[in-house]
Amino acid sequence: VRRVILVLGDQLSPELAVLRDGDPEQDVVVMAEVPDETGYVPHHPKKIALVLSAMRHFAEELRADGWTVRYFRLEEDGPRSICGALMAVHQEVSPEEVVAVRPGEHRLIEALEACPVGVRMVEDDRFLCSVDRFRDWAQGRKELRMEWFYREMRRETGLLMDGDQPAGGTWNYDKQNRKPAQRSLLQSGPMEFTPDAITETVLAMVRERFAENFGTLDPFTFGVTRTQARRALAHFVKTQLPGFGDTQDAMLLDEPYLNHGVLSVYMNLGLLLPREVCEAADAAYRDGQVPINSAEGFIRQILGWREYVRGIYFLKGPEYVTSNTLGHTRDLPAAYWGGETDMRCIREVVAQTRDLAYAHHIQRLMITGNYALLLGVDPAQVHEWYLSVYADAYEWVEAPNTVGMSQWADGGVVASKPYVSSANYIDRMSDYCTGCAFDPKVKVGEGACPFNLLYWDFLVRHRERFEGNRRMGVVYKAWDGMGEEKRREVLRGAETLGEVI
Ligand code: FAD
Ligand code: SF4
Repeated sequence: VRRVILVLGDQLSPELAVLRDGDPEQDVVVMAEVPDETGYVPHHPKKIALVLSAMRHFAEELRADGWTVRYFRLEEDGPRSICGALMAVHQEVSPEEVVAVRPGEHRLIEALEACPVGVRMVEDDRFLCSVDRFRDWAQGRKELRMEWFYREMRRETGLLMDGDQPAGGTWNYDKQNRKPAQRSLLQSGPMEFTPDAITETVLAMVRERFAENFGTLDPFTFGVTRTQARRALAHFVKTQLPGFGDTQDAMLLDEPYLNHGVLSVYMNLGLLLPREVCEAADAAYRDGQVPINSAEGFIRQILGWREYVRGIYFLKGPEYVTSNTLGHTRDLPAAYWGGETDMRCIREVVAQTRDLAYAHHIQRLMITGNYALLLGVDPAQVHEWYLSVYADAYEWVEAPNTVGMSQWADGGVVASKPYVSSANYIDRMSDYCTGCAFDPKVKVGEGACPFNLLYWDFLVRHRERFEGNRRMGVVYKAWDGMGEEKRREVLRGAETLGEVI
């Protein structure tokens, strides 16, 4: 055997660099389901089933293409770690070398670096911007901002470009994409799939082994192959993308998806490549099927945000995930793990997360993220929650979004100002407040929404840090203009709230 080629659970792409350069005649592929990976956080059972079933399908496809695949199943109780699996195969086949595409997580990179078999790691070139390219872009800049990176990526890839000008004449159509929730926005949601025999076997095993983990396993409707992921993409472009921009920030009871495609699940596994997803959106715009605000809004999320947060994750190194600039130390409320709460918005988003292993961006950012930040929860606990409960959660993308964008724990690397809001924003963008035990319009006293009390409490606690921020001066002016008695009442309200949450 010439090479042992490691393929990880989120590297399920036929174009993976090590497969491209490999030779089915001489090389052996290793894929391993191991307790260290299924257990480093309490993953949602749907997420575990998704990854393991997709891995098993991918292994079958590799075999059909002539590869020899040494596959370790979790129920065989084999090696505990990826390195353990590599050592076992190394002993069996004595290869000339062991190769892998660099994992998307510092934890696993370090484990492979320390593995006695000696793993040669090559770059993951499935992204639109390499780690080195991002580092060059970031070098020497006083402030990193996604928007500038995004424009460079547009120019570089030619996506939504007319020559050297942005398609439609404007780079960013975000202003058109902040429409509040309306029932007429209802859409069919993403494509769903029926489990086949391989998935059923995985589901039975996950049901038995991970019964204690937070999250509902059934029904399981994710696709688990590249063919299914391609169908999900086509369905999204045809039925959801046209209205994507209009509904991007809206939240509706019992409508978890609106026009969100849940394609992160497939992209993050490697079943879809970001380039093909962006190209599909670009082509639909050129064909006149999709308006520019939707095409641009969607492409920005992938070509912009997704590539940008990956760049930040690798630029900032392993310590990034433990950042805690605001010194927050509270425990994550039990409501995040399904405990009782009278706050309808939190209840809805957590219930949806438990049932689907999914919430869309504004739910993650402005409901669960916003509330944890206002409360002052330890960002490490918030990070662990997000990494556990969402089917698309891998550290390279989850951590900058949670630690950076949502909790401002990185001191403003990802977000120029903290994403906090009072109930007013939630009431405008959702229908969650209808029938809630609290009143979004009540600022203090009986029935006051916790978001209203904690919003001011947060701003007062961190006044020194944020007062000088040019986008926040106006809120401090509003606070000062409120009158001393009312201000005292608000802060007292926030304090008493703290004792009951
Ligand atoms: P759509 O709304 O249909 O968006 C299209 C695509 O754009 C997504 O599939 C995704 O790949 C990409 N995208 C959009 N926003 C972002 C972003 N901020 N960062 C990276 N990619 C983005 N995304 C993950 O993929 N994994 C995570 O673990 C994750 N954790 C998050 C944690 C927090 C606190 C927040 C605020 C956001 C997080 N996101 C994460 C980003 C975003 O919420 C999800 O990508 C999105 O909700 C996925 O659903 P979708 O495919 O239906 O998205
Ligand atoms: Fe959430 Fe407050 Fe609205 Fe209730 S009133 S749903 S707690 S924002």
